[in-house]
Amino acid sequence: MSGGRRIEPIRGMADVLPADSGHWQFLEQLLREIAGSYGYRELRVPVVERTELFRRSIGEVTDIVAKEMYSFEDRNGLGLTLRPEATAGIVRACISHGLLHNQKQKVWCTGPMFRYERPQKGRYRQFYQFDVEALGYPGPDIDAEMIAMTARLWGRLGIESVQLQLNSLGTPASRRAYREVLVEYFSDHRAALDADSRERLERNPLRILDSKNPEMAAVIAGAPVITDYLDSESAEHFAALREFLDAAGIPQVLNPRLVRGLDYYTRTVFEWVTDRLGAQGTVCAGGRYDGLVEQLGGRPTPAIGWALGLERLLELHRACGGEVPPPSPSLCLIAIGEPAARAAFGLAEGLRDALPGLGLELDCGGGGLKKGLRRADRSGAELALILGEEELAERAVTVKPLRSAEPQRRVPWEALAQQLAERLQRGSE
Ligand code: ATP
Ligand code: MG
Repeated sequence: MSGGRRIEPIRGMADVLPADSGHWQFLEQLLREIAGSYGYRELRVPVVERTELFRRSIGEVTDIVAKEMYSFEDRNGLGLTLRPEATAGIVRACISHGLLHNQKQKVWCTGPMFRYERPQKGRYRQFYQFDVEALGYPGPDIDAEMIAMTARLWGRLGIESVQLQLNSLGTPASRRAYREVLVEYFSDHRAALDADSRERLERNPLRILDSKNPEMAAVIAGAPVITDYLDSESAEHFAALREFLDAAGIPQVLNPRLVRGLDYYTRTVFEWVTDRLGAQGTVCAGGRYDGLVEQLGGRPTPAIGWALGLERLLELHRACGGEVPPPSPSLCLIAIGEPAARAAFGLAEGLRDALPGLGLELDCGGGGLKKGLRRADRSGAELALILGEEELAERAVTVKPLRSAEPQRRVPWEALAQQLAERLQRGSE
């Protein structure tokens, strides 16, 4: 073999290894199940969209559009971007396919998102989100449903160390009124602002409240709060949402400084935060975006959604003691010697024909029985099927339970599928 130079993985983009993929699948399956139980269906959107889509929806003066997008031109000069989030693509897809003409939509989407951020624990350049959106629903009941769905997730996973933070951003008009007093306040405290915030003061002052710089904390703490400037309809909407949540027994913490990093939010915004993950403590975040569909060329359509970071969810689940073993085969077929290996191959195919979905691993390691059994044990299999010279002559296999003291038995090939089916049936009862 030639000694080629190793190709390094890309910074901030992780491989999910077999030892962890079972945990991922478990969480993804649970999320799909919960979304399905509320009547949401999957909508898959491309990983790449026109750059313009994200510029127009997320907003020019956001971290994502200003400095985090993976943008490039395709061979035809078309400006494209790897999706940094799913909402924009979902709204685009709903408009493209007329899914909002006299209809409402409840959908979810999952997959990798891409943001050029500084990689650190809980913050990656390719990360996975599970994303849920309801389009066409104006009422606070749907806001409550969104939050209840995520609360159900914590319940199912036995995670208690999360807190729901809630705020209302009001309508664009009430936000404008708030914006004015905010600009006035921060202009009076200009000396206390960092460079980022000074720039935001000109272009997007609300985002100053979203600053992660600890030196900004004091000046932010003294700023006027949006709650005092809410229009009456938004205030009613917010109060009604809180009543729904109270009725469902979901505790809330009001955080009038929660503004979220994206421009398109209106009224309800929320985050689930935890102190178990260090600096990247937001596991799930969402909000209402009543203006976005129209902004992207559709008819005015109220909508709300949330997105959850799967890496952070998995870390949190682990930190709370949750463990999921990777799926293991139930059988491992060990052949000893060349003729037996050929017979074993055919036998294994026959068993897979007879029992679709059966987890059967063919031990292709060679060596004697002892080595084969050691590998079978490591594979996690329930049973070893042993096919040696003697068994081959008898057209039988030795069935050896690996996880119990049950004695081994010899079973003729013809009877094997039937006996395994009965055994697996008993095992799953
Ligand atoms: P943050 O303030 O942590 O940057 P954000 O407001 O940019 O988060 P959203 O766009 O709301 O995040 O994304 C929703 C969720 O996706 C986040 O709460 C987080 O769990 C996850 N997430 C966002 N960016 C990343 C990333 N770079 N790496 C891993 N997970 C991420
Ligand atoms: Mg971010």
